[in-house]
Amino acid sequence: MEMLNEILEYNKTFVEQKEYEKYQTTKFPNKKMVILTCMDTRLLELLPKAMNLSNGDVKLIKNAGALIAHPFGSIMRSILVAVYQLQAEEVMVIGHHDCGMSGMKADPVIESMKERGVTEETLETLNYSGININQWLHGFENVSDSVKHSVEMIKKHPLMPADVPVHGLVINPETGKLDLVVKGY
Ligand SMILES: [Zn+2]
Repeated sequence: MEMLNEILEYNKTFVEQKEYEKYQTTKFPNKKMVILTCMDTRLLELLPKAMNLSNGDVKLIKNAGALIAHPFGSIMRSILVAVYQLQAEEVMVIGHHDCGMSGMKADPVIESMKERGVTEETLETLNYSGININQWLHGFENVSDSVKHSVEMIKKHPLMPADVPVHGLVINPETGKLDLVVKGY
């Protein structure tokens, strides 16, 4: 069965049998926190379990590498919305060891794009439009430094209230062990 159909089939039963009942909560985070972390598959269940987080506890934002690519992009906007509109009082950035964005270079990604049909012409057009694809696709060298950088970006953002603590951590994707990098208090 195709994955989409499999999911839709399962979903029908899930709703019919009211399995959602045990997850019911509000849009406001019980633990008054917003977390930015990586989309890594190993963290899907491990991260909330390792931190004792249940449905309704926190606002969780995920992307590749737990990175803030732009101070006025959607990640920063989500953090600000969580703080100003959804009662988040603390921010946490959680990177992880063995991240796909660690040491990622743009060139192999661009090569894959070409293999999948993106033309040299398209890449040149983007380049002439002032879009630096190489920089955009570049990962980070060191996860602790990357987390520190993200924490700084949030902390020093002109629209961020000064009294909101911003913490930085690194999680082990095998054991769930958290290491503190920046204590925001
Ligand atoms: Zn990652």
